[in-house]
Amino acid sequence: MITFIEKVEELTEIIKQYKINNKTIGFVPTMGALHQGHVSLVKRSKQENKICIVSIFVNPTQFNDKKDLKKYVRDIDGDLNKLASSGVDIVFAPSVSEIYPDTGDAGPVINLCGLDTYMEGAFRPGHFKGVAQVVKRLLDIVTPDKLYMGQKDFQQFTIINHMIKTLHIQTELVVCPIIREPNGLAMSSRNERLTPATREKAGIIYKCLQSIKKNQNKKSISDLCNFGIKKLNVYPFQTEYLIISDGNTLKPLNNIEDTDYAVACVAVFAEGVRLIDNIILKQGH
Ligand code: AMP
Repeated sequence: MITFIEKVEELTEIIKQYKINNKTIGFVPTMGALHQGHVSLVKRSKQENKICIVSIFVNPTQFNDKKDLKKYVRDIDGDLNKLASSGVDIVFAPSVSEIYPDTGDAGPVINLCGLDTYMEGAFRPGHFKGVAQVVKRLLDIVTPDKLYMGQKDFQQFTIINHMIKTLHIQTELVVCPIIREPNGLAMSSRNERLTPATREKAGIIYKCLQSIKKNQNKKSISDLCNFGIKKLNVYPFQTEYLIISDGNTLKPLNNIEDTDYAVACVAVFAEGVRLIDNIILKQGH
């Protein structure tokens, strides 16, 4: 049975009991509008911990575009249905004032060391400061043993990993694979806003990333990116960026040989909907 909690105080009390009884806690932060990508994180968390807590909180501080915040799908009943057989123990769905009480405390200033200046950060100013702020708040409340995030948001998990290390937070980050629709499109709450025809065609994004991976040792980075952008920029798609970066620093690469951990990240607009995806080209150790 899922316990539904809206108040920080109530959750804190239950977590205290879990800790007394040595129950390990896995935590999956989400913004709701759940799909099988989210459910995969919940299942992994439940496999590896005694207790799984999912938060559903549309965080206003990470939306640089307030219209985007307004449009964000909110469907708590649908979310609870999706989670019904996932094994989740607690769904924590606080209000904005629960997470940001009017105390004037904005939380610690976290130096993101430039990780927030590339890709998403370049096009969504302030976004990752908001993400780091809310994840820090949630980790303070939930104090999980493990935190589950998706590779889908590559820059996000890289920044949260940096924050955990910098602030010596006693939580292990577990990054889970991207779950895709049958045509390869990365699952996202935003996919619902595409027309069926565009949603089908959007499989091109993953095909393009796969083709970059296949050709990474045959072409220069600029040729790979130009080729990808050309392939993607066919109506109704418009590429915002396609960048090949070092997986640790997120700095755009000039040569694939310059690192042993490289990732290609892309953001594409389709019918006013912003879709992101990525593929790891080579994985360091
Ligand atoms: P969101 O609700 O979009 O903030 O996402 C919550 C978590 O789910 C984040 O860690 C995302 O990276 C992860 N996630 C979103 N989409 C997917 C997907 N298609 N596959 C795996 N994880 C995902």
